[in-house]
Amino acid sequence: MSGSGGVTGPALDCLRCQRPLESQGVLQFRVGGATGLSGMLLGSINQLAETRLPLEVRTCPECGHVELFRA
Ligand SMILES: [Zn+2]
Repeated sequence: MSGSGGVTGPALDCLRCQRPLESQGVLQFRVGGATGLSGMLLGSINQLAETRLPLEVRTCPECGHVELFRA
């Protein structure tokens, strides 16, 4: 596997209707650290305690089921 960037991973089917899930891209979920106003005030210091978790979002065109995968 030579990572070409972007969305990767095997094709996966919806658990309910066995339709191939459509990738909606990768979102960076923030884990840890302060959120909201306190996080804004803390600024760069807050980023040290914060981890970004890239998750690929895949949706089923049939039933709207959404699954998240570690990107
Ligand atoms: Zn489905």
